[in-house]
Amino acid sequence: MNEKIWLSSPHMGGSERKYVEEAFDTNWIAPLGPNVNGFEQDISDFLNARQPVGAQTAVLTSGTAALHLALVMLDVRPGDVVLAQSFTFCGTTNPIIYQGAEVIFIDSEADTWNMCPDALEEAIITLVGEGYVLPEANVFKRTIRAIIPVHLYGMPAKLDEIQAIADNYQIPLVEDAAEALGSYYKQRACGTFGAMAALSFNGNKIITTSGGGALVSTQTKFVEQSRFLSTQARDNAAHYQHSKIGYNYRMSNVVAGIGRGQMEVLETRVEQRRANNQRYRTFFADVPGITFQNEPNADFYSNFWLTSILVDPKLTGGLTREDIRLALEAENIEARPLWKPMHMQPVFEGSRFFGPGICKVLFEHGLCLPSGSNLSDEDFERIFKALKSIVIDK
Ligand SMILES: *Cc1c(COP(=O)(O)O)cnc(C)c1O
Repeated sequence: MNEKIWLSSPHMGGSERKYVEEAFDTNWIAPLGPNVNGFEQDISDFLNARQPVGAQTAVLTSGTAALHLALVMLDVRPGDVVLAQSFTFCGTTNPIIYQGAEVIFIDSEADTWNMCPDALEEAIITLVGEGYVLPEANVFKRTIRAIIPVHLYGMPAKLDEIQAIADNYQIPLVEDAAEALGSYYKQRACGTFGAMAALSFNGNKIITTSGGGALVSTQTKFVEQSRFLSTQARDNAAHYQHSKIGYNYRMSNVVAGIGRGQMEVLETRVEQRRANNQRYRTFFADVPGITFQNEPNADFYSNFWLTSILVDPKLTGGLTREDIRLALEAENIEARPLWKPMHMQPVFEGSRFFGPGICKVLFEHGLCLPSGSNLSDEDFERIFKALKSIVIDK
């Protein structure tokens, strides 16, 4: 059997070990230290490079932890509602449940596959009509506390439209940028738009620390508070004193060393992922029934973390995305259906959903193709051979 080709596997740059060894040599084996500070600075510098928006960063144990702390800081509590993109990974929505709040799911639109601004506004108007209130009311009852759009597979959501709605109703935006480090909307880095944003450095992301995440904000108070809350909320005292419930969510200085090494190659990783995307486009150029997740116009710049296609059996002579996935699997090549929308998940059964159901159609017809930045020419030969046999030669 040929060696497995993964959907997206870790790709070290070379200097990660140096930073990790530094942590050992100096005995900074703790959730603080020079790598933690250095990694935070590197991320902030990267996010502020094209447009100096004042983004600041706190590194944490995961992207899910970052989203959880964002909701804690926005005071999401039982009885409240958070409006979240349904078409996503469970890390987006689980923290809403951790807070005892209700998640109401918003459909995607067909251009970016991300949160549909029309469905979002429809949800807000409907809920306000039912007696839900906006954060400005400042009362302890069913409040719409936050909106969470996602930049799926690196594709920026329609941020202007979504932000305008959020501003109009004064509901804070929390950006799930877990898949979108290195993506831009109107030349501004994804991860710098919302009141807060989450990044992820999980093993399959564009850069990885084996596991990890970050909370980003242009507001100092949120970043400082997330450092405080992620280290068990210790008050300033010689003894251990607590006036708040905290979390053990801070990134370790060992892990942050991997992150510092990865930041040195992030720019290259984006180029490599985008080059992969281009290779697939060239391959499928003349194949009817195969379309891509596309940047709608020059305002959108995706890191193309994963290259994703839609397969229309009406135009492919009956061939489905599952046929393609299985053909690749037979050659030991990993491909995966798009995220199964959260409102269709057993665990969220009975949840409310706004929109015509575009994300369901995307899920049924979509496939993520092997997209690692470490795929070799030989890997691509194998992938294209397998694809050719099922899609073209049939
Ligand atoms: C990976 C991911 C997360 C969560 O990140 P972890 O670091 O794995 O906790 C959240 N949202 C999306 C869309 C993701 O892809």
